[in-house]
Amino acid sequence: MYHGSCLCGAITYEVRSEPLRASHCHCTMCQKQHGAAFATYANVARDDLVYLTGLDKLKTYNSSGTVLRRFCSDCGSSLEWSDPHRAPDRVAIAMGTFDTPYRPEHITDLHLDTRACWLPSLLDEME
Ligand SMILES: [Zn+2]
Ligand SMILES: [Zn+2]
Repeated sequence: MYHGSCLCGAITYEVRSEPLRASHCHCTMCQKQHGAAFATYANVARDDLVYLTGLDKLKTYNSSGTVLRRFCSDCGSSLEWSDPHRAPDRVAIAMGTFDTPYRPEHITDLHLDTRACWLPSLLDEME
């Protein structure tokens, strides 16, 4: 069981199963939405993501096609990415909102073709 919340704390949730996989998404839409080099998501079964508080603050943005991105309308925290048309039983949760430590064994990098040009230098400096 994992707990999570948005920046202002209005929205809280729990995840009632182990995430199926995790990914860093480097697509330009995730960059824009998160204001960051990439977004990191944990993919879980839709039924296992349960909101405890703040559901009325959760706003939905249809970013492309049938993709829905949900965020807190007060503080702007990104919470969900989903594609109910293509994968109705799955939801990706923005891992930065987890309050319970979760360390996936492996994180897949997606859309590296649009990787932020300033990201490689950050990684280089860590070596
Ligand atoms: Zn919030
Ligand atoms: Zn993305």
